[in-house]
Amino acid sequence: MLRISNLSKTYPNGVQALKNISLEISNGMFGLLGPNGAGKSTLMRTIATLQDADSGSITFGDIDVLKDKPALRRVLGYLPQEFGVYPKVSAEEMLHYIANLKGITNTAERRELVKALLEQVNLYEHRNKHLGGYSGGMKQRFGIAQALIGNPKLVIVDEPTAGLDPAERLRFNNLLSEIGENIVVILSTHLVEDVNELCRDMAIIAGGTVVLRGNPEDLVHGMEHKIWSRKIGKDEVAAYRERYRLVLAKLSGGAMVVYILSDEDPGDGFRSVRATLEDIYFSNIN
Ligand code: ADP
Repeated sequence: MLRISNLSKTYPNGVQALKNISLEISNGMFGLLGPNGAGKSTLMRTIATLQDADSGSITFGDIDVLKDKPALRRVLGYLPQEFGVYPKVSAEEMLHYIANLKGITNTAERRELVKALLEQVNLYEHRNKHLGGYSGGMKQRFGIAQALIGNPKLVIVDEPTAGLDPAERLRFNNLLSEIGENIVVILSTHLVEDVNELCRDMAIIAGGTVVLRGNPEDLVHGMEHKIWSRKIGKDEVAAYRERYRLVLAKLSGGAMVVYILSDEDPGDGFRSVRATLEDIYFSNIN
């Protein structure tokens, strides 16, 4: 289990990115959802031992993460937000290189591992291509392959589907869902859909604090019969925001639709709609 306790971080420019964050994360896929600037990358980089916190502690099993960084690195697989690749090196060469660095020095063993990884992420037929010629989706799948070298017990993926087209995103998420349930996988994202599809446990962070924690299905269930929607004029959003607890106003087929939170039937042309994780998200970050 990964245990984060009272973690705080203020950058030299005065931005307080993490405010006393505490989270316990067990095996399986954990979704860390939050808007841009919420503090997700700061938290991910701190867990991945790439930067220090000002105060607080992180333990992973019996590893004191902030004190014994090498121990955490031995069990960590990390796909950073900005995953740079050497453009003139092939996927196969790069995986061999990284595997070697991670201590897999036996050539036969390494060959077998690299082949298995390339097959797992569906890049075997492109193994000899230079990484510089890979599409965004292929780069991210390569990123997962390198993160899985050395059988990590903790895998962190930071905003992995940002910039992928819908088909690439689907393929990437299918790949993520195949990573074992027996390790801790943290998926940091601002996309509600990613968490909806993949995670059985999640937290929403905003402004450097955890604003909600739970199982996506339970959270949605708790919101059932409380979400109401109606079409309005595009210039009426402000008025509705004033009158109701507005969760979301979004365009649908060119018309403006508002979603509000109410325990009772608000009348006024509203009809009850099924709650979604998007409703939970927007009602907690606003
Ligand atoms: P997220 O990943 O959720 O978008 P970040 O952790 O990147 O959030 O950023 C949290 C806050 O900290 C933001 O206000 C961001 O501008 C600020 N921040 C992030 N990195 C730095 C840095 N190296 N120096 C100063 N401020 C930073």
